[in-house]
Amino acid sequence: MALLKLRYYPDPVLKKKAGKITIIDSSVRKLAQDMLDTMYKSDGVGLAAPQVGVSKRIMVIDVAGEDEPAKPIVFINPEILERDGAMVGQEGCLSFPDVFFEVERASRVVVKFQNLQGQSLKLTAENNLLCRAIQHEIDHLDGKLFIDQAVSPLKADLELAKAGLTDDNVEELTQKVESQSLTIKLEKPQPAMK
Ligand code: ZN
Repeated sequence: MALLKLRYYPDPVLKKKAGKITIIDSSVRKLAQDMLDTMYKSDGVGLAAPQVGVSKRIMVIDVAGEDEPAKPIVFINPEILERDGAMVGQEGCLSFPDVFFEVERASRVVVKFQNLQGQSLKLTAENNLLCRAIQHEIDHLDGKLFIDQAVSPLKADLELAKAGLTDDNVEELTQKVESQSLTIKLEKPQPAMK
């Protein structure tokens, strides 16, 4: 078992588009195993190679519950073929320790990818954690981060500041978030009068 060093925001490797894997050899198989070890050790459900400093299109996901046997999936060169619907839910990221906020994702995706044996596979995920994780991890391969997809960018900024990942003023942001939710309440359309 080998643990890899996690890269944290704002490490520039997280903003880079990762390159395609052309040959699935023993070095790719070792990388996949090390990524899984690192993900399990950090209690994550997904990890993309850029998060361990490797700018290659490979990611691992395991959404099995704590009492269930492990069910790792290795995705090489994943590509979303179909996406539709929408779902909002809390999301975290191993590159942003202790940061959680709501992110909107498609509620159904069809993804094609290669496995470690080089076979081409297709998988459909709908309305579940796997569906969310696939979209989050593929974004990593394209250099995109979940902070740019927050339902409320202000709340995301607040969580980042609270975790010490930015120098933004926590009190100021808290006040802004509070006045924002007040504004939303005030702007809520009144029922039509007849
Ligand atoms: Zn992430």
